[in-house]
Amino acid sequence: MKSWSALFVLVWCAVSNVANAALPPVKVEKINDHVYALLGPLGIPTKENGGYMNNSIAILGDTGVILVDTGFSKEIGEHIGKAVATITPKPVKYIINTHHHGDHTLGNIAFPGAKILSAEKCKELVEKHAYDWIRTLEQRLERTFPDTKPVLASETFSDGKTEKTIDGVKMIFWVPAGSHTGGDMMVMLPQDGILITGDIVVDQMVPSFIDAHVKSWVGVLGEVEQSGAKIIIPGHGALTDTKYVGQMRQRMQALYDGVNNGFKKGLTDSETRKTLDLHEWEKMVSYEDLMGGNINRTYLEVEQENF
Ligand SMILES: [Zn+2]
Repeated sequence: MKSWSALFVLVWCAVSNVANAALPPVKVEKINDHVYALLGPLGIPTKENGGYMNNSIAILGDTGVILVDTGFSKEIGEHIGKAVATITPKPVKYIINTHHHGDHTLGNIAFPGAKILSAEKCKELVEKHAYDWIRTLEQRLERTFPDTKPVLASETFSDGKTEKTIDGVKMIFWVPAGSHTGGDMMVMLPQDGILITGDIVVDQMVPSFIDAHVKSWVGVLGEVEQSGAKIIIPGHGALTDTKYVGQMRQRMQALYDGVNNGFKKGLTDSETRKTLDLHEWEKMVSYEDLMGGNINRTYLEVEQENF
């Protein structure tokens, strides 16, 4: 009887660990002695990636770690926390959320006691939409995430650039005009020449327009291009630079112009789609999943502007 119960515990432990063990590894990329990019896989959340598909950044302060973006669930937050622990014994004392999307905020709960910072608008959007993001994850992965709950920022930033030193690290919090969402915030580390963009810049992957202000986003990309940053850490994909940001800006501008032309000719959104040159986009990850919705969203924006 004793051995049966031991076996039961063993099997149960093995099953309950599956979800965590299955998460793809965090790719830790050291940028300098106090900034580490924690790069996640590319793509939308799937059973295979367990919902882990975002980048995070660990910035080492005097007494603790400032962690930018925390993943789609408590378990992903813990997974990222373990990667941080391989870099430093310092605890995560601050979290910065670049925007409200679930893959950037829902892991906050894995860091109890950490102070959370975001754009003011991001906080409102987390309050409004966090449970929709949890439902999206649950539907895609066909399992529940009962321990994953939103944790809101306690310090927020309004539009423009705010300079602030956190745990000995000089930072500029940059809340631009509406772009990837209505509540994005970028983080500049002026002493390191680093700009952390959240999903305003994504590399190798089609960005999601689901909450976007496309025309304004193109303008913000122009500002990022002129920011003087030497290294851009995007919300998804590999480390990149302002030259790439210029390419992304041109690609998005061309898409916007193409949709605008279609609308002005009186074409519907699906007729417009056939007129667009999408060969640059076709090469990118998640093209099939996101591009149709992105064109729709752009069309709606153009329609609204011409109303
Ligand atoms: Zn996003």
